[in-house]
Amino acid sequence: MREISTEQISDAVREMCIEAAHTLSPDMAEALEGAACKEEAPLGKEIIGQLKENLDVAKSEMIPICQDTGMAVFFVEIGQDVHISGGALEDAINEGVSRGYTEGYLRKSVVKDPLDRINTGDNTPAVVHYSVVPGDSFKITLAPKGFGSENMSRVFMLKPADGRDGVVNAVVQAVSDAGPNACPPMVVGVGIGGTFEKCALLAKKALTRPVDKGAADPFYRQMEEEILEKVNWLGIGPAGLGGTVTALAVNIETYPTHIAGLPVAVNICCHANRHASREL
Ligand code: SF4
Repeated sequence: MREISTEQISDAVREMCIEAAHTLSPDMAEALEGAACKEEAPLGKEIIGQLKENLDVAKSEMIPICQDTGMAVFFVEIGQDVHISGGALEDAINEGVSRGYTEGYLRKSVVKDPLDRINTGDNTPAVVHYSVVPGDSFKITLAPKGFGSENMSRVFMLKPADGRDGVVNAVVQAVSDAGPNACPPMVVGVGIGGTFEKCALLAKKALTRPVDKGAADPFYRQMEEEILEKVNWLGIGPAGLGGTVTALAVNIETYPTHIAGLPVAVNICCHANRHASREL
C-alpha cells in the first residue's frame, strides 16, 4: 500500500491550475502553428497569428490565456493500492483549486447553486471523475473548461440504424450549430457508445488526448479525419469570421453500448484547450 498525503495532492492541484491557465500543452501550441499555414483566408490567418501572440504573452507575462479560466474538471486515476492520508481526497482537490485560483489571480466562475447564482468566491467545487486502476499509481489531470464552448456541447441518442453516417452528421451538425460561439478554431471531443451519461464523459475525456494523436483504432481514426475535413468545410473559421480552419482536431473515444441504442456526445472546446497532469 503506497501512501499519498492530501497536502501533496492540493499542492499539485494548485500548481496545475496556474500552469493550465497560462500555457497550452505542446501539441496544442503546435496545432495552432500548423493552422497558421493551413488557413487560406487572410483574416483567418491574421486571427491565428493573434492567438499565437496571445499564447506567448500569456506565458511570458503570466496573464491567463483567456479571461474565462473555466470550471476545474479533473480526471483522477487512482491505483487500488494507494492510501490517501490526511483527509478526504476530494477536499484536497478543492483546497488546491481554491489556492490555485485565489493565489494565481484567476477568474472565479463557479456559482453555488445553478439557480440562485451566488459565486462561491474561489472557483470550487471542482468536477471530479474517478477511475480506480490496478497497482499503486496516482495520476491527476486537470482540464479547466470555459463555458463559451461547453454551452455548445450536445448529446444525441441516435438509433443503431443511423450507423456511422448518422454519427458523422450529428457531430458536424453540433459544430455547425456552435458556429462562432465556441471560440474557434476548436477541438471536438466525441464520445460514442455507453449510456446517456457515459458518452458525455467519453467526449469530455477525448479533449484531454493530445490533438496530434489519433484514435488507436484505424476505423475511428479515419472517422476523425473525415469529420475534421467536413467541419472545416463549414467555413466558420478562426473566431467565426470565416476561413478554412474551424477545428484543429476531432478526438473520438468509444465504449460498448446497448443493442437498442447509439448514444453520441459532442463536447466542444475552444482554441484554449487547456490541461495539465501530474503523477504522484
Ligand atoms: S470558450 Fe474558451 S476562448 Fe472562448 S471565452 Fe471561453 S475559455 Fe475563452
